[in-house]
Order: sequence, then C-alpha cells, then structure tokens
Amino acid sequence: MSKVLIIGCGGVASVAIHKCCQVPEVFTEICIASRTKAKCDKLAAELAPTTTTKITTAQVDADKVEEVIALIKAYQPDLVMNIALPYQDLTIMDACLACGVNYMDTANYEPENTDDPEWRAIYEKRCKEAGFSAYFDYSWQWAYAKKFEEAGLTALLGSGFDPGVTQAYCAYAKKHEFDTIDTIDILDCNGGDHGYAFATNFNPEINLREVSAPGSYWENGHWVEIPAMSIKREYNFDQVGDKDMYLLHHEEIESLAKNIPEAKRIRFFMTFGQSYLDHMRCLEDVGMLSTTPVNFNGQEIVPIQFLKALLPDPASLGPRTKGKTNIGCIFTGKKDGKDKTYYIYNVCDHQECYKEVGSQAISYTTGVPAMCGALMLLTGKWTTKGVHTVEEFDPDPYLDALDKYGLPRSESHNPALVD
Ligand code: NDP
Repeated sequence: MSKVLIIGCGGVASVAIHKCCQVPEVFTEICIASRTKAKCDKLAAELAPTTTTKITTAQVDADKVEEVIALIKAYQPDLVMNIALPYQDLTIMDACLACGVNYMDTANYEPENTDDPEWRAIYEKRCKEAGFSAYFDYSWQWAYAKKFEEAGLTALLGSGFDPGVTQAYCAYAKKHEFDTIDTIDILDCNGGDHGYAFATNFNPEINLREVSAPGSYWENGHWVEIPAMSIKREYNFDQVGDKDMYLLHHEEIESLAKNIPEAKRIRFFMTFGQSYLDHMRCLEDVGMLSTTPVNFNGQEIVPIQFLKALLPDPASLGPRTKGKTNIGCIFTGKKDGKDKTYYIYNVCDHQECYKEVGSQAISYTTGVPAMCGALMLLTGKWTTKGVHTVEEFDPDPYLDALDKYGLPRSESHNPALVD
C-alpha cells in the first residue's frame, strides 16, 4: 500500500510505469509528473483501464527545486522515482530531503551545461585527482550521504540495468559464488536492429555524451584512461552471436571499485555496429556532439540538442526493433582456495518487450529494474539509510523480483573470458 511520485515520462519511465501498474498491491497510487504533462495524461489514459493502481498526473519542471517541493507536499508520496534525466538528480534529491521522502534514480548526476565555470573547476580538479574524465561521476550524489542518513532517508542510486542489475549481479557473485573476486567484466550487448542507419536507444544527448567520451577501466587501485573506442574485443553472446564490443567508461565501475575493493580489474564493454560508429565519428568531427551553444542566425543553438531533434525518438523504435539484448557480468576469483569463473546475464527480446509494454528492450531492461528497486524500498527489503548504490544491498530479493517481472537471470560456470 504505497503512493509513489514518478518524475519523467520518457522511454524508460513509460516501462517502469507499466510495470508499477502490474503490481497494484504495492503501487496503490502513482502520480506521473513531467515537463510535458500531455505525455503523462496519454500514458495514464492508456493504463487506467488495465490496472487498479490509481493514476494521477502533474506538470513539473524538475530543474526547479521549489516546484518539486510543492508537488511532493501536495501529493505526499512514500517514494520519489526520478526517471527524468541525470541533470535533475540533485534538485530532486534536495526536494526529497526538504520533504522527508525516500529517493531513487537510474543514472548518476551530470550537469546539463558543461561550460558552467563553477562546475568546470570542480570537474577539472576531479579529472586530475581521480584519473578519469567522464562528465558524470558519483561524487555529487555521494556528498548527500550524511544528509540522507541524518534525515533517516534512503537514496537508491542507479537502479536500471547498467548501472543497476549489473551491480546486483556483482553482489550476488560475492555472496554466493566467490570468497574473493579478482576481475569483473561487464558486457552490454544489443543485438537488436531498428533498420535506421543511425539512432540511439535511449535519450540521444545522454547516450552520445557517454559513448563519445574517453574509455576507462579500474586496474590495481587506479583508473586507466584510453581514447574513445580504442579497445575492441569480439565476443560470442548467448542467443545473439558474435559481436564487436568496445571498452567504455561506465558509472558502476566507480562504485564497484569502492564496494568490492579486492577486485584487481573492472572493465565495461558495449557492442556497437560499424554504421553507428561511423555516424558518431562523423557527427563528432563536424561538431554536432558539442554541448557548447553556437549562435545561428541570431539564435543560440546547442549542437547536440539540435541533433536530438533530428534523430528518431527512442520511444518510436519499439515497433521496428528486432533481436535480443544480452547484458551481464563475467567474474574470475577464488572459492575455497580454488580458481573459478562465473557469468551471470539476462537475455531480453525486443519484440517481446514491445508486445508487453509497447517499448524496445533498452527501455525495458532499464524500466523493469527501476520498478524492482522501488519495490525493494517500498516493501522494506532494502532499508539502509543514506545514499547507496545497488551492490550495497542484498541482491537476492531484487534478482528474484527481476526473474518474476521480466528479466530472468541465466548463468554459466564455464564462460569464455574476455582477454
Ligand atoms: P527520455 O528523454 O526518453 O525521457 C526523459 C523524460 O524526462 C521525459 O519525459 C522528459 O520530459 C523528462 N524531463 C526532462 N527534463 C525534465 C525536467 N526538467 N523536469 C521534468 N521532467 C523532465 O529519457 P530516457 O527515458 O531514455 O532516460 C531516462 C533516464 O534513464 C535517464 O536518466 C537515462 O540516463 C537513464 N538510463 C539508465 C539506464 C541504465 O541502465 N541505468 C539505461 C538507459 C537510460 P519531456 O517529455 O518534456 O522531454
């Protein structure tokens, strides 16, 4: 019996909202609030006849703390699910603290304006000290830990697939399969084909910023940074087949390095087709991925935002995308003094997702864990106060919920390793 405020109504939020409505005994009432209220109203009208969850909608600009506070005060939720963009993480956390409400999201904070001098100074110091240069990192949200603890509140960070489920897989491996973990390779494969020469599977601006950034991995207690897309491997994925994958910087490496300190190496690989890479390189070369505004005919335009307007809306890829995703983690380590290897992953079918919730598998594999993370907080399975990432909690009830609500795990005790 709970009341949940969901902020955002895009590709990922829409799946999470469908899934919440499948569990009305927990999600008794939800309010869908976003910048564009019409999208919330449309989804609410679609779902209302299919669920006993009571759905209301609201308009909110989550960049404005006072608007989020007013909405929380009016609605009185037990939890705020932030499924808007990473740009809104801090304002929504501030509002949750002001109102005494638990918080969760699916991606860590990054600023919308990377030219802001105040942010830039902190960022450049962090690049030097930490050794990686991605625009996003956990420091901004970890800085809220004491405030959430003192308020007796929980902030669950990054409950999507990666970050999210991948960290639960790590916690599960640590709890059940290994005494010590030596290496972790996170492998994110999208074997889906949408038929476009170039499109992104989730918010284009966030996606292209992530993919065009230098890659990095954790090795022997420090970051190793490499030029974007400069480490390539081929892997044969269960139910997908052979794919090229590239080493990327990814946010969960940062928290895993902290929470599984014995791991000597943690890497993240994502598959990309040649057409995607060629288009991205070309767009980058001509400046279309820039976040710095340019003046065009008297109007300020941010190139990457203009590009977003030209690209297909990720939400529209659902009916066209065929194939499967395969995302998981390969571990090496020791159990009872012996070397062992272990692979835990999920395979998800784009068309099956579309049939069930009207979205492709990328939104599905993020939206389902968002609902399952909320379920853990609302049913009292995860109660630690403060600001925490998924691997800090008991993985068992979360993975059981994922098995039940659409993302079942598969395992191999003799996987091919990545060199
Ligand atoms: P979309 O762009 O499809 O949706 C974003 C939603 O947030 C839209 O409804 C948008 O409203 C709303 N929004 C944006 N700015 C504001 C604001 N200031 N106030 C209120 N609402 C706002 O994004 P996705 O659904 O693809 O991604 C959602 C989140 O999921 C992102 O943070 C992304 O990084 C994360 N993600 C995480 C993954 C994981 O595995 N952990 C994988 C994929 C994504 P409007 O309609 O007006 O634009």
